[in-house]
This record gives sequence, structure tokens and C-alpha cells, in this order.
Amino acid sequence: MKYYSTNGNAPIADLQKAVVKGLAEDRGLYMPEEIYTLPKAFVNDMPGMKFQDIAYNVAQNFFGDDVDGDALQDIVYDTLSFDCPVVKVTDNIYALELFHGPTLAFKDVGARFMARLLGYFLRRGGSVCGCATATNSTVNVLVATSGDTGSAVANGFLGVEGIHVYVLYPKGKVSPIQECQFTTLGKNITAIEVDGVFDDCQALVKSAFMDEELNKHMKLTSANSINVARFLPQAFYYFNAYARMKALGLADELVMCVPSGNFGNICSALFGHEMGLPIKRFIAANNANDVFYNYLQTGKYEPKASVQTLANAMDVGDPSNFARILNLYSKNNALTPEATHHRITNLISGATYSDEQIKETMRQCYSETGYVLDPHGACGYRALQENLKPGEVGVFCETAHPAKFKEKVDDILGIDIEIPARLRAFMEGEKQSVELSKDFADFKAYLMNQ
Ligand SMILES: *Cc1c(COP(=O)(O)O)cnc(C)c1O
Repeated sequence: MKYYSTNGNAPIADLQKAVVKGLAEDRGLYMPEEIYTLPKAFVNDMPGMKFQDIAYNVAQNFFGDDVDGDALQDIVYDTLSFDCPVVKVTDNIYALELFHGPTLAFKDVGARFMARLLGYFLRRGGSVCGCATATNSTVNVLVATSGDTGSAVANGFLGVEGIHVYVLYPKGKVSPIQECQFTTLGKNITAIEVDGVFDDCQALVKSAFMDEELNKHMKLTSANSINVARFLPQAFYYFNAYARMKALGLADELVMCVPSGNFGNICSALFGHEMGLPIKRFIAANNANDVFYNYLQTGKYEPKASVQTLANAMDVGDPSNFARILNLYSKNNALTPEATHHRITNLISGATYSDEQIKETMRQCYSETGYVLDPHGACGYRALQENLKPGEVGVFCETAHPAKFKEKVDDILGIDIEIPARLRAFMEGEKQSVELSKDFADFKAYLMNQ
């Protein structure tokens, strides 16, 4: 498979280059040149198949040309060593629980898949960094996080030989439980506490990739949701969700609702749809960061500074993957902006909720159904409640375990939820971090010393 850039001004790349570079030379995002439709027979057979086998079929569709079958199967099976069940919440609303992985959030799958794929490329030899003449052979992963990405990537890459991870996060703006999941690991993981917001962290990472001197000094790659190895594997979830709902006889008019921040997760679902996954329509549920919601209403995309909310992993003011969604539905700019907007609004609708509405939804859902929503999932649940039409069945992603936001959830619901053992283990570790300003010069000087 070849990959082109959404900005249309960079050389075509193969999978290895797209994964190692993350971002194309023209700062665009890589897109696969083809999205093959899966055979109807496979779609029909899915309800009887297990998650790993469904995922392996989907993975072959994207990565089969570039990774040996056995290796790919091994990567997929290792990545999906846990379940992601659909759980009934009301008669027509189901939660797709994406939080049974190592750090109890959906990003575990993309992160682990990418770590294993990079490891495969490293072992296979050849240049793992087509871009640099850097003397040190370690590959350095830079990742900006608003909370969950950092823990997923850090844990996905922990102990992978030849790779060092730098996690940049906004000081004081991630929950203590999130923080301990990437600041206590040590080994090949370094946590960097930035005096700024998530968008500042993301800007630092982007600048580092464009800095010639730095790229001569060390091999840099990204693990943000812009990376094709991070975002595409998330499509596995949606095939599995469809299969489980189909097995229940509830998939005829399936509405998939994805709580969204940087739009990587929903983007993978849309790729699944392009591959022939029979989902009727999608809803992107946002917190108060409503840039995509406004685009749906007006056709204008106007990024702005992010605002802090209860659902902080979705506090994104300029979602990177919007460029991918536009490129997908404009057929790589073959259609006008109006035609593209029309195609997008035909398939995707939006919702945006204030912190007050998130709290109200969590309380209402808990008292009526007993189901404990986390603040991100609450946006998804509410969007289905408000938007499902007669005959439709909705599935929303429960993107993280509520215990990851224990202080908030306990406070809002007036309960004391149990912390899973896996989380408790992180909390007992010792925090290690490096504090930096949001100036690129400081970040660069730090990296040049490594
Ligand atoms: C990252 C994250 C989101 C948003 O996912 P995107 O792919 O960035 O849209 C939602 N909920 C949780 C818990 C997350 O960690």
C-alpha cells in the first residue's frame, strides 16, 4: 500500500515510511491510496467470528501488502489480548466498552499495534528512518497528550528495544490517575511536563519534526493519533461492534456514536464504513470544544484555542484528523467544499455538551440504568438519547474506564467506585518528570542534550 499526504505536496510513502515519519514532509497526514472493500461473505460471517480473527482480516486489508501474514497475525493477536464487549444500557442504546486494555482506555489498541509494528520494522532491518542521517540509532517517539494518549503510548512502547518515548503533557491539566500511568514507568519512557495547554504540547511536537538540526541529531517519530499505525487499527473496534450487534439481531439500523477530540477514533470508524461496514450513520459527540460541530452546521472550519472541560481527553481546539475526514469525503480534493460538506453531513451529525450537561447525563444514566458513565462516554450516551430515530439502535463508545476519572465521577454521582487492580498498581509508583516551558527553544535544547 502506498500513502499520500493530505496536503498533496509530499512524495508518496510506503507503510514503513508513513509509520516512522508520522507526518508527511508538507505537514500533511498520510492517507492510504486505496481502501479495499471487504468481501460481503466476510461481513456476513463476522457475527460468528471472534474479535482477533475479525481484526486480522481487517488488518490484512490495510497492512497485508507490507507485513508478512504470520507477523501481522502475531501483532494483531498480541494487541487484542482483551475483549471489547457491547453492553446494554437501555433498550436501544448499547455501550461499546473500549476500556479493557492495559491502561483502561481505547488508545491502548492503536498504541500497542504501532509499537509492535515499529518493532517489526526495526527487526526487519533497513532504514527505520528514511528521513535522517542521525548518528544515534535509537528511534525517539514524541507524543503530545491531553491525558490518555500518553499512558497508552507509554505502556504500549514500554520495554520495546531500540525505541525511546518522550511524553509531553500540560502541567496540572491531566488527572492524577492519568498522570501516574506515564510518569512512573521509567525505563525507555520520559515524561515531560509542559507549562501550557495540550495544543502547546502538540505544537512543540510538530515543530520538532520540522527542525532540521534536531532531525540530524536524533531519529524522531510520532505516535499521536495522526500516525496511520495508531489510528487505522481502531477500525477493528467497529467491525467487532457490528458483529456483536448483528449477533443480537440489532444491526439493521445501527448508529455509531463516538466521543471525539482529535477525531482519530471516529476517523477509523469512517474508514471501516468505506470498507463496507454496514453502519447507517455516525454521530461525533463533543464536549464544549465544538469546532467540528460548527463545521457541520456552517461548512466552515474555524479552529480555536481549546477550553478545559470535564472530558479532558477531548479538549482539542484544532482536531488533526479533520484533514483526513475532509480528504476522504472530498475524494482527495476532487469535489468542491460544498459537495464535500454535503457528503459529510449526510453521514455524520454532531453534538456538543457543556460540563453541566455532562454531569446531568451521568447522574440521569446512573439513576435510571445503574450504568456508570465516564465524562467522555457521557457525551456519546446523551447524543444517542437526543438523536436516535424510531427503529434505530445506537452504540456509543465508552472510551475509558470511569475509574480513570475517579475524583470527578465519585463527586458527580456521590458514590465510591472501585479502582481496578491494574490502575492501583500505577498509583503506587514514583513520579519522575522533566519540567519545561512551552517555548520550542527549551524543548529543542533539552533534546539536543540527549
Ligand atoms: C482520546 C480520547 C478521546 C477522543 O478520541 P479522539 O480519537 O482523539 O477523537 C475520547 N475519550 C477518551 C477517554 C480519550 O482518551
